[in-house]
Amino acid sequence: MSRKITAKKGLKIECKGWEQEAALRMLYNNLDPEVAERPEDLVVYGGIGKAARNWEAFEAIENTLRGLEGDETMLIQSGKPVAVFKTHEEAPRVLLSNSVLVPKWANWEHFNELDKKGLMMYGQMTAGSWIYIGSQGIVQGTYETFAELANQNFDGSLKGKVVLTAGLGGMGGAQPLAVTMNGGVALCVEVDESRIDKRLETKYLDVKAYTLEEALKLAGDARDEGRPLSIGLLGNAAELLPEILEGDFRIDVVTDQTSAHDPLNGYIPEGFSLEDAAELRKEDPKEYVSASSASMAKHVRAMLGFKEKGAVVFDYGNNIRQVAFDEGVENAFDFPGFVPAYIRPLFCEGKGPFRFVALSGDPRDIKVADDKMRELFPDNEKLLRWLDMAQEKIAFQGLPARIAWLGYGERAKMGLALNELVASGEISAPVVIGRDHLDSGSVASPNRETESMKDGSDAVGDWAILNALVNTAAGGSWISVHHGGGVGMGYSLHAGMVVVADGTENAARRLERVLTTDPGMGVVRHADAGYDIAIETARMRGVNIPMLEE
Ligand code: NAD
Repeated sequence: MSRKITAKKGLKIECKGWEQEAALRMLYNNLDPEVAERPEDLVVYGGIGKAARNWEAFEAIENTLRGLEGDETMLIQSGKPVAVFKTHEEAPRVLLSNSVLVPKWANWEHFNELDKKGLMMYGQMTAGSWIYIGSQGIVQGTYETFAELANQNFDGSLKGKVVLTAGLGGMGGAQPLAVTMNGGVALCVEVDESRIDKRLETKYLDVKAYTLEEALKLAGDARDEGRPLSIGLLGNAAELLPEILEGDFRIDVVTDQTSAHDPLNGYIPEGFSLEDAAELRKEDPKEYVSASSASMAKHVRAMLGFKEKGAVVFDYGNNIRQVAFDEGVENAFDFPGFVPAYIRPLFCEGKGPFRFVALSGDPRDIKVADDKMRELFPDNEKLLRWLDMAQEKIAFQGLPARIAWLGYGERAKMGLALNELVASGEISAPVVIGRDHLDSGSVASPNRETESMKDGSDAVGDWAILNALVNTAAGGSWISVHHGGGVGMGYSLHAGMVVVADGTENAARRLERVLTTDPGMGVVRHADAGYDIAIETARMRGVNIPMLEE
């Protein structure tokens, strides 16, 4: 069984309240063909990141949400609804735990066995927690990352620079646009032509090239003219990166967003067509993993080669260094991950990927919200620049949405403002407010968000769990705990948060609490690890940390 799901819009609701309706609409939105990568298999993005375990579970979730009272809570275990309990009106309507395995068993092999038996699903980050909003969700983070890279290395702009990367999937598809927004040239290797075409359609990518020669000519011309351009080059990164490295074309920045975190489903080994790869995956998964891991080792060796030639090289959160290291590339970790290199100072202030979605489906609601954001934060130049570009260049996918990196204090302010706009009718229907799990205080992921923490606490998972617990206590609308997102099984624990602004007093109380505890955890986590910016933020904003050093 498979169904075609599209985002539900309009003011008529089929659930018993807007909060339950919001969860239903966000589940549908995750699977809208404009949003999801493989909706027929319930796959939203990031390898096999799913919204529900199977179609039967999907229908059970739908039906349960339709009947769910405003003082009840539904429990989801890896994409399947397993219970409804009476709780209370300010408690979450849904609590989710996805892909969580006991640490000793936390590997892909064991997960895949359970997945095959129908006992689990991979929730990635926002796939299984119903707050994925298409590539826009990652565009601003990617834009911020490249902007910071440009600040640190090239006088603040990527003009006249060529960025070489691979993977134009759900997340990776944001790279070309983020690079051109920073003025640079993006050369993106992608093995699946349909992914290139999807990015062309949504205007995240400018042109397609079938040969390396053609791609380098396009990239070279644009670079020499200082013109932003993004090129999708059809091919396999494990083959093309070494070839480019051997030549004399100057590459300034190298990264990668293939789904390397999942060697069985996320990375195509060199020499394989998509069809051959699909067959081997089915026939001999062990052989497949060994072939894809060997290709990734080659891929990383080429990345290291570019670093030696003087390019800025960084890992973009897909765990490719770990796979290469396990394959014997001893210096795989010689280039840094993007969080310690570019993002951590933002995390210290509780800044991260705050996002909201207009449940009406009406783009005008986002316009009203954008205007409010400009009014509330008139001095935040980076945010204003982002809003200008987003309004001009971002095509909405599914329900209209906006992402904006806001910090401690700012999120609660914006959340309450959105609630008031809903109450006054200036925004036509309730708004869902959430974020990526990749946030300041919600992840433990030693090869990514918590790589090289100042006090060595990279692998401490307590913080992600505390984040989910405090956001539940504060009254989020749906709260999730996941394992393995971003970097794969065994490498991360993380929590999600969504809260609905429906214009009521009840919502205002919950919004203020949750949008304070959630970024507050980011400040606390980084202050505890000894980061000065976080300690300063905690002191200035009055975050109560019992043992904060004087
Ligand atoms: P996706 O599975 O939707 O896309 C991956 C793409 O890589 C696919 O289009 C696939 O065809 C392509 N690909 C696979 N092997 C290839 C090869 N050998 N050569 C060229 N292309 C190849 O995944 P996604 O959602 O785009 O995420 C990509 C990775 O980034 C994941 O590992 C994800 O966990 C990670 N990630 C990054 C961030 C971030 O902030 N940058 C956030 C979350 C996740």
